[in-house]
Amino acid sequence: MKKRPALILDHEKLRSNMRTVVGWCNDAGIDVAGVIKVTGGMASVAKDYEACGAKWIASSRLEQLVRARDSGVDLPMLMIRIPMISELPDMVRVCDYSLQSEYSVLKATDEEAIRAGKVHNVILMTDLGDLREGFFDKDELVDVAKYTEDVLSGLHLAGIGTNLGCYGSVMPTREKMEQLASYAEAVEEAIGRPLEVISGGATSSMMPMFDKEMPAKINMLRVGSAVFTGPLEDSRTCYGRTEFDALSDEVFILEAEVIEVAAKPTYPIGQLGVDATGHKAHYTDRGSRKRALLAIGRADYGDIGDIVPQLPGSEVIGASGDHTILDIEDCKVHLKAGDVVRFKLRYSAIMYLTSSENVTIYES
Ligand SMILES: *Cc1c(COP(=O)(O)O)cnc(C)c1O
Repeated sequence: MKKRPALILDHEKLRSNMRTVVGWCNDAGIDVAGVIKVTGGMASVAKDYEACGAKWIASSRLEQLVRARDSGVDLPMLMIRIPMISELPDMVRVCDYSLQSEYSVLKATDEEAIRAGKVHNVILMTDLGDLREGFFDKDELVDVAKYTEDVLSGLHLAGIGTNLGCYGSVMPTREKMEQLASYAEAVEEAIGRPLEVISGGATSSMMPMFDKEMPAKINMLRVGSAVFTGPLEDSRTCYGRTEFDALSDEVFILEAEVIEVAAKPTYPIGQLGVDATGHKAHYTDRGSRKRALLAIGRADYGDIGDIVPQLPGSEVIGASGDHTILDIEDCKVHLKAGDVVRFKLRYSAIMYLTSSENVTIYES
């Protein structure tokens, strides 16, 4: 019998999503860096990206790229969080490329590459207003690019890139992409040669691509979310683009087991304080309703908004660390203890579930 909770990964559906997304990007002259971090860096997912035409494997976590490399993936590894100085020896050994946004880190990376007898490829990030990583000032970006090109012999300046829609919620509009392209031109002018990589962002930067508004210079996107959640998450991050309807939202499915079924009041009885998370919760009295209690909780998936029950008529009404309460009053099927309820998953839930030691992953 399957151990529960179970997280089911359907590789056929995942590869179908990857082929579709890589196809869209390639048609627009864009190569895909396949981002694996949301799956906790499953090596099998990196292999799928490789089989489906990605040109890099990318993660913000070095140990995930180590695992992908050790499992036999041949693609260049791209570190997409600015490396910690403390991890540079491993980073330079494992990764062929890294995103960089800080002069002192760049300098230390150069020294480490020279020590290792390697030339490490860097993509300098520019911050176009989302206010996370990146050189904020265009002149500083150009100066550091020129310095990297002329002085840092352990590094190869592969290109520049940006990240949007993470901290500042800034959308990857045509204007932002054109700004990135113009920065690339300024760098190319300063160093006197073309850059190989202009990295326009993450899944959300597919929007200007769909609208055929992407400047021709942008030739890399770092894609995670789209291939794992399809239309489910991208109804949020890409504002309901219908293009995503071509993708499956059932790549990952969570199976949780019912441990109690009962009709109970919907309004708690007694003097109300705070709930399991220490918050003052609000309850609506809807009379007595049938509910199922599931043996899974927020410790496993994070937020109840990120799990979507597939059982018609059911609704997640609450959860604590280890329990989830499902309203099943309007369901046609009769649940009992031992039955399984299946959920589609948004981005954050996949991230939590793949790293929960209580959840067993099954791959098909
Ligand atoms: C996580 C991440 C991505 C991928 O984002 P998705 O929304 O999952 O496509 C791309 N670039 C950077 C720098 C990231 O940290």
